[in-house]
Amino acid sequence: MTIETILVLNAGSSSIKFQLFSGETSLLSGQIDGLGAGAWVKGEAAGGNVLMDRALSAPESESHSSALQVILALLKEYDPELEVDAIGHRVVHGAKKFSKPVLVSEQVERELEAISSLAPLHNPHNLAGIKGAKTAFAGKPNVACFDTAFHRTQEFKNEAYALPLSYYEQGVLRYGFHGQSFQYIAQELHSVAPEVAHGRVIVAHLGNGASLCAIKGGKSVTTTMGFTPADGLAMGTRCGLIDPGVVLYLQDVEGMTTQEVSNLLLKESGMKGLSGLSQDMRDLENSEDPRAQRALEYYDNRVKRELGALVAVMGGIDALVFTGGIGENSTRTRAGVCEGLEFLGIEIDCDANNKRAKEAITISSGQSKVQVMAIPTNEEVMIARQTRSVCSQ
Ligand code: ADP
Repeated sequence: MTIETILVLNAGSSSIKFQLFSGETSLLSGQIDGLGAGAWVKGEAAGGNVLMDRALSAPESESHSSALQVILALLKEYDPELEVDAIGHRVVHGAKKFSKPVLVSEQVERELEAISSLAPLHNPHNLAGIKGAKTAFAGKPNVACFDTAFHRTQEFKNEAYALPLSYYEQGVLRYGFHGQSFQYIAQELHSVAPEVAHGRVIVAHLGNGASLCAIKGGKSVTTTMGFTPADGLAMGTRCGLIDPGVVLYLQDVEGMTTQEVSNLLLKESGMKGLSGLSQDMRDLENSEDPRAQRALEYYDNRVKRELGALVAVMGGIDALVFTGGIGENSTRTRAGVCEGLEFLGIEIDCDANNKRAKEAITISSGQSKVQVMAIPTNEEVMIARQTRSVCSQ
């Protein structure tokens, strides 16, 4: 079957992001926010023409399923003749079971339900999006694309926690996330830097959520996020790697509930908590407050520390790629992370680094042994690609 037009959906607890592709060209994109109460839809064609910008009625905003009917109406407004050939869904967690994207069947739905407890904040909503799409686009193939799948190539030594083995066997392990982004960058390297595409690459996906991935020969060796996306680097509001003793202290000595600890570690920590000012990198970079400066130094140092660990595990590095909102735009962060890493062969050129990466740019100097780049990521295109590939099999 020919798959031309693909709708990519990212269904969250109260939102649905959507983007329509013809091949790899984005035709339109938008978002429904505030599902459940006072929802709003905004959708724009690629040229900037606003197709819909309005509140949803109460029945429309009731569920993912009803909201998908609004997206369907928006697509019809864009082009009454439009046929969506397939729907690609972002699914955060694929557990051990899913190491690649999969065509959704009744059996797959049951399996997704069974692993929902691994990502209770995401997977049930991703699944609600799949169920809604089955009704809105009856008869069209739905493909589940997992954030974790790219990391299923990790070996036991990189994937297990040093807990009794039974926990590993029941699925308590380092799954890793941001797989769509890492895979997209790994594929982009074939066209923008083919000389390193098969080598040892570290990708720094630095956005509100952030993780590093060591990729060798196009495959994930290890990554900084773990059982959940809370592990690894310090992020906008997440603390990243932390001694489990701190969690025990918060509960036993401070008397905090599980919910309070979760809120503290995931929503009040990271750059927001450390600076006491903002989670947004731009705010911190523009601030004169010494707490902002200290938080930025902390951020760079955390990335550096994890980068060193990944280089050691991978046995060297041929290329370092920055991506994500911070990696693509924050010239300060890129310079801060790379500062002092000449001993690893990483040397950036200040002038080359001094611009935002609207497209792939090389920021390393002529002498640098490691090619350092900033490449814009595109997780939606990756999902569209995976969807097409699954449907064409
Ligand atoms: P998400 O993980 O939610 O997809 P993004 O990848 O969009 O997040 O990244 C958001 C982060 O990117 C924010 O911290 C924001 O401050 C940062 N960012 C965006 N533009 C710039 C810029 N020009 N300079 C520095 N940081 C930026």
